[in-house]
Amino acid sequence: MTSKKKEKKPGWKELAEYDLIIGGGTAKDFKTGDWRTKRPVFVPEKCIHCLACWVYCPDAAVIVKEGKVVGFDYEFCKGCGICAHECPVKGKAIMMVSEKEVRDKRPKPEDEKAKK
Ligand code: SF4
Ligand code: SF4
Repeated sequence: MTSKKKEKKPGWKELAEYDLIIGGGTAKDFKTGDWRTKRPVFVPEKCIHCLACWVYCPDAAVIVKEGKVVGFDYEFCKGCGICAHECPVKGKAIMMVSEKEVRDKRPKPEDEKAKK
């Protein structure tokens, strides 16, 4: 047995006012694309424009113009893959690609300098 006295914890009245929830928030306030590990890539030639991806996307990140899908808003797409899952087309009109793969294929600044 220890002889230490039990430390007295503060009651709720002594707690500092941190972490107050001062209002609701939506994905519009946060760029959820920052934490995406995969991204949807649109394959326009396979798309039948049924808009299932647009209906199911929880972040309204499927861009539709004049009734047709044209791409994705990568600032808000969180890469959940629901759009690709719901796409009814055989072979899918949306492919989920890893962000690392996308990053690796991007031209690096040193490659751009070498072209000049
Ligand atoms: S991956 Fe998820 S968040 Fe991104 S467009 Fe598809 S359904 Fe929307
Ligand atoms: S669900 Fe597939 S086929 Fe339908 S609009 Fe979206 S990408 Fe096109």
